[in-house]
Amino acid sequence: MDCVFCKIVAGEIPSKKLYEDEQVYAFYDIAPAAPVHFLVIPKSHELTCAADINEQNSEIVAHIFSVISRLVRELGIENGFRVVTNCGEPAGQTVHHLHFHVLAGGDLGAMA
Ligand code: AMP
Repeated sequence: MDCVFCKIVAGEIPSKKLYEDEQVYAFYDIAPAAPVHFLVIPKSHELTCAADINEQNSEIVAHIFSVISRLVRELGIENGFRVVTNCGEPAGQTVHHLHFHVLAGGDLGAMA
């Protein structure tokens, strides 16, 4: 599959890894939009974006948010961060593999 995130998970493309377990991979964004900017993704390519989440497959999302909670504490940004997930090109999605941006540092400004 020609997916940059699948290649990162497979180790075919290097990444600055923050966390990994059987289901989830977290790494710093290559083009940070804030002083701290990392991505948390399911290892499986099953879900393209948040519109694919349903009752049957949403467990991974709860797990991703528990990983986000753990990482923001480890990085000391738990009191000021934003989680963003883009779906579709109008929203700016460029990689069609579900992922959550975690942004922090400085003034993140108003939403959207
Ligand atoms: P989105 O625009 O929501 O699809 O987000 C995709 C994100 O992946 C962007 O913020 C990119 O900077 C990031 N990205 C693309 N390729 C890489 C890579 N090889 N390593 C780390 N981040 C990447």
